[in-house]
Amino acid sequence: MTLKFHNTLTRKKEEFTPMDPKNVRMYVCGPTVYARAHLGNARSVVVYDVLYRLLRHVYGAEHVTYARNITDVDDNINKAAIERKITIKQLTAEVTKWFHDDMAALGVLPASDNKSNGMMIEPKATEHISQMIEMIERLINNGKAYAAQGHVLFSVKSMSNYGVLSGRVQEELEAGARVKVEGYKRDPGDFVLWKPADAQDDPSSIFDSPWGKGRPGWHIECSAMSTHYLGADFDIHGGGSDLMFPHHENEIAQSCGANPDSHFAKFWVHNGFLTVGGEKMSKSLGNFITVHDLLEKGVKGEVIRYALLKTKYREPLDWSDKLVEDAKKELDGLYRRLGEKSAAPGDNFLEELSDDLNTPKVMSLLHIAAGDELKAMGKILGILQQDPQSWFQGSGNDDGSIQSLIDARIAAKKGKNWAEADRIRNELKSKGILLEDKPDGSTDWRKE
Ligand code: AMP
Ligand code: ZN
Repeated sequence: MTLKFHNTLTRKKEEFTPMDPKNVRMYVCGPTVYARAHLGNARSVVVYDVLYRLLRHVYGAEHVTYARNITDVDDNINKAAIERKITIKQLTAEVTKWFHDDMAALGVLPASDNKSNGMMIEPKATEHISQMIEMIERLINNGKAYAAQGHVLFSVKSMSNYGVLSGRVQEELEAGARVKVEGYKRDPGDFVLWKPADAQDDPSSIFDSPWGKGRPGWHIECSAMSTHYLGADFDIHGGGSDLMFPHHENEIAQSCGANPDSHFAKFWVHNGFLTVGGEKMSKSLGNFITVHDLLEKGVKGEVIRYALLKTKYREPLDWSDKLVEDAKKELDGLYRRLGEKSAAPGDNFLEELSDDLNTPKVMSLLHIAAGDELKAMGKILGILQQDPQSWFQGSGNDDGSIQSLIDARIAAKKGKNWAEADRIRNELKSKGILLEDKPDGSTDWRKE
């Protein structure tokens, strides 16, 4: 089975061959735990969960290691803890729990308990400060970083290939830099590896270092944790496309600066934005819907997951109520046909999914697959693993009974029992459900 992914580094779709098929390694930037995950955050997590499941299927679960970090030290966290008048530890523990609960509802595989090879790891930044300090020291020794006024900065000019991922060149960066440049920076593009603690900082966000008390910059967290768990060179690095610059560019600079013989990640994979009315869903714009909001409204996690995967991961995905309704209807249809056994997924299913994770294409194949095949396909997508009975009885769901009435009406029409067909149509209408008969004999429904 040949896997192909679009590699941001080369801007081409390339064949994927792991450096070591017995130890395939992937790192993905995880959440900053200061607020509930919104659907944009969820898209990123779900996309890489499918990629992880595909890699496990192809190379064997015991041969894939996947690290997705938790950023639990960050300016936003400090701000949120002050606003909520709780300690940073309380805040990050609570938000991490929310994240785990919400992602579990979306069918995302959790971190593994066993620490053997082949696992999902969820490293926390605060538990890897020593690795970050060690990497910063190496960067200083290699002439790639310098200490100034309690800070340590990465010297962008010291890396000739800076900009390799994003395509931004140094002159462009300098021209675009803000007019006011902090006095401790040699060059406007230099970024922080270590910053001094503020007087009002919560003690749990202050760490000792050779440069005084302070905390790491965000970029070094990912470089240190990925290198620690996956080595200086590994196979795939993923994240949202908003992270390409500066975060991922800086990760490359740091990791290659600290390990001059390494190339860091071989494949860079970036998911597109989840948008609302064409605009990126984000905390700062205030246009966000959290996963928890939807679950509370009775939308099933699996419906959200299905809706997230119906668009190709690299393309923008515009969220709407209609998308949720359609996902629900389609899943209901699939659950109605779900077989008991799990046969092997069809070859064309695997081929299409291996072609740059073409989820919309494989989801169209679900609708023509046999019942037993469906279960196996669903496993790789992280859907269709429930018992159909519990699916239709689940909370917030009355679509199963709607469909049964529709089926009864179709049967009545076939038997030319027009009175019964009309009675069912009216019964549904009284519940606010409108029917639309299709030329092929099937019936669609929508809420009034
Ligand atoms: P954050 O917690 O903001 O650091 O984001 C966590 C992850 O979610 C990162 O990989 C982001 O790129 C991703 N992300 C944030 N907003 C969106 C969005 N609207 N669409 C897709 N991915 C997003
Ligand atoms: Zn990162």
